[in-house]
Amino acid sequence: MKAIKTVKTAVFFHAHPDDESLLTAGTMAMLAAEGHRVVLVVATSGERGQADLEPGEALGAARITELYRSAAALGCARVVNLGYGDSGLAPGGGVAEDRPENAFIDADAEEAARRLAAILTEEAAGLLTTYDPAGGYGHPDHVQVHRVGGRAAEIAGTPIVLEATVNRDPLLRGLRLIRGFYPQLDVRAFERAYSPGEEITHRVNVRRFTRRKRASMAAHASQATGADTRTLGVMLKVPRPLYRLVFGTEWYVRRGLPPGTRLRHPFEVPPQG
Ligand SMILES: [Zn+2]
Repeated sequence: MKAIKTVKTAVFFHAHPDDESLLTAGTMAMLAAEGHRVVLVVATSGERGQADLEPGEALGAARITELYRSAAALGCARVVNLGYGDSGLAPGGGVAEDRPENAFIDADAEEAARRLAAILTEEAAGLLTTYDPAGGYGHPDHVQVHRVGGRAAEIAGTPIVLEATVNRDPLLRGLRLIRGFYPQLDVRAFERAYSPGEEITHRVNVRRFTRRKRASMAAHASQATGADTRTLGVMLKVPRPLYRLVFGTEWYVRRGLPPGTRLRHPFEVPPQG
């Protein structure tokens, strides 16, 4: 690994508490271990997530507590909640009808971007992560993270924007492999989710940080208990060797790089030409 010349700040922007666990936890732990400043920003407290608690304020408060526990496991220096309402997910996907008045999806994207940009400027962030345009598996709040994040980086002049995603190809292979053990897994739901391997510019090896990533997932207890259909609950039951295989890499797309670009570190400078 190349020596780090300067300490930089990386801001990880997520929609709900626990999204950081699944998508970027290993990268966050790695950058923190390298001495960089890692800041976690969520748009909502996830108060309409699936959980044993009823959706609402108490669930939101519990999930923010879990978020701080996760952030501590990953070595984050700061956690910010933008405080929008969790837009929720309609049964079968899409935008829920009965969403709260301040739902993130209804927020003025320009205003939300200015609020995030203020944090980027204050932190002199060298890097911002958002989501792919599909919003991963298509949650409306995740699509909004893509929109708001991209615009915030423009306003603040943040030099590197990475869209956190999942390489759909090994994900589908892995899900098909474990489907026999988890008949409730709907593999087809993932066929158009995230990004195909050919679009991915960054493959970050986080195998050394899978213990911390697992601790981050375990911190989100409200999302990991009860019904087996919850993604996080299923993920935590993945046997350890397979877990390292499935979660040992994190993937990002940086727009505007030549096709076939393959980088290994978030701050790596792409080859010129
Ligand atoms: Zn989410």
